[in-house]
Amino acid sequence: MFGLYGNGFAKKKKISLATLLTGLVSLSVAFTLTILLFASYQSNKKSLFETTFALNYSAAIKMSHSIDSLFKSMRSGLAHASARMATGDLSDVKEMRKQLETLRLGSHYFNSIAVVDETGLIRSVDPPSVGTAGTYIATEASKEALALRKPYLSKPYTSATGRLIVFMSEPIFDKDGRYRGFIGGSLYLQEDNIVNMMFGMHNRNSDGSYFYIVSSNGHVLFHPDKSRIGTDSTANQAVQNVLRGQNGYDQVVNAQGAVFLAGYSLVPENGWGVVVQSPVGVVYGQLNRNIRTILVYALAPFVLLLIAAIWVARRLAGPFVALARMAGKFGGSGKIVLPDIKRHWNWEADLLTRTITMALSDLQKQTEQLTHAAMTDSLTGLMNRRTFESVMKQWTEMRQPFALIVMDIDRFKSINDTYGHQAGDEVLSHLARILASSVRSNDVCCRYGGEEFVALLPLATVPDAWNMAERVRTAVETRENPLGIPITVSLGIAHYPTHAQSAETLFQRADHALYQAKESGKNKSIVAG
Ligand code: GH3
Ligand code: MG
Ligand code: MG
Repeated sequence: MFGLYGNGFAKKKKISLATLLTGLVSLSVAFTLTILLFASYQSNKKSLFETTFALNYSAAIKMSHSIDSLFKSMRSGLAHASARMATGDLSDVKEMRKQLETLRLGSHYFNSIAVVDETGLIRSVDPPSVGTAGTYIATEASKEALALRKPYLSKPYTSATGRLIVFMSEPIFDKDGRYRGFIGGSLYLQEDNIVNMMFGMHNRNSDGSYFYIVSSNGHVLFHPDKSRIGTDSTANQAVQNVLRGQNGYDQVVNAQGAVFLAGYSLVPENGWGVVVQSPVGVVYGQLNRNIRTILVYALAPFVLLLIAAIWVARRLAGPFVALARMAGKFGGSGKIVLPDIKRHWNWEADLLTRTITMALSDLQKQTEQLTHAAMTDSLTGLMNRRTFESVMKQWTEMRQPFALIVMDIDRFKSINDTYGHQAGDEVLSHLARILASSVRSNDVCCRYGGEEFVALLPLATVPDAWNMAERVRTAVETRENPLGIPITVSLGIAHYPTHAQSAETLFQRADHALYQAKESGKNKSIVAG
């Protein structure tokens, strides 16, 4: 039969239901989680990029508007001063300086203001510490402004005092329309000025975002990193776009090779470009934090699901294992106690448990019947010769003392011949009943074959056995039988271990005693001599 782990079943490693279900759940959850994480990563990334672009773009637009207004004000401040100077005396240095000071300190638009006459002589400078009053203009930008005789805005350049500046000027014409020179204001790019004070250009945002401003030739005017001021940034894609007059946003690589999400906008008044940008790493950092959060939230249900799967799998597998154990026991000897059928919540497991338990129960009944049939004699219901031999073998092996009685019907052949085989069988049954009713409960009665019977009497002495034999003989002789004719039996008695040490010899001794009984006239009990 099938031992649970017999027949080499266990040699090949089999997957248990619990492992299978757990594996399936793990796999499906892992897949789902991966897809979920991938999808949310993508959508998160998209929305984070879009948000960052939108924020930077709108910040750039706002800044360019502010700068536009600022420059209009600066321009009108200069124009207003130029109009006043048209009527004044440029050689009145004291008066001139007063006016320049009022203009500079009144608005703080410029770091310094100068008045230059039509010959290029610097008539007056405020603050006086600049120290160029009384000298002739030397820089290309001033010369250009003087020659142009129009409102002018320079590109960033290094001034006569060695500062990096941008310079803005308004021409001065007197009431007759004669050109008298210009009034010009400078922004010191690397020092505190109106623009970087307005926008707090010295600071970067805590997330690493910052903005910078370039002139119309792509040179940096304002930047949180002062060393970048004045450098050429035309290689930057955002700068190229904004100087082409485009407002928008883009992913750009800066001069140091870092990637940024940039929004940019042009200042219409002066052709400058404003770029607001956030390092892309900040966005990815946020993205990773979001994904980690999703993972943490998704992990709890996953663990719960896994525990549930293991629990369900064990519950499912339980009946199968129990059934296998139960079926496995059928191979062994002895009666198996079948458990009460418990209802299982799973339909298949329930069906299988009930069917198998019922089948095993039927099988057990059949086995019991077959075992009984194999041990007994069908005609008389006594034990058969095989059982007799196995009991005797067992007792002699255990060295358990017992007596053996062998009984044979006298002249049975003639009964058969006279009354027929059927009648003979009735006599056999009759004698079996007498024998069975005469012995004690522990004694074993068998039909040895044909018309011979044996009785095994555990722990009986020779006299006990002889008494028993005589009781049977007398009962057969005196009791009424189905044929109503006189029937007698002869009996031979032997004792273990008195008369023999082995079962075989013991039987021979008893049989010999029986033979003697037959020889000496039948209807007798004789003990082995
Ligand atoms: P003895 O007194 O010497 O024992 O004479 P016997 O006729 O009994 O001896 P024998 O062994 O020669 O005869 C046994 C007979 O028992 C032979 C057979 O016809 C009969 N017999 C054996 N088994 C059965 C059986 O199962 N049913 C019937 N009806 N008769 C049987
Ligand atoms: Mg016989
Ligand atoms: Mg006989």
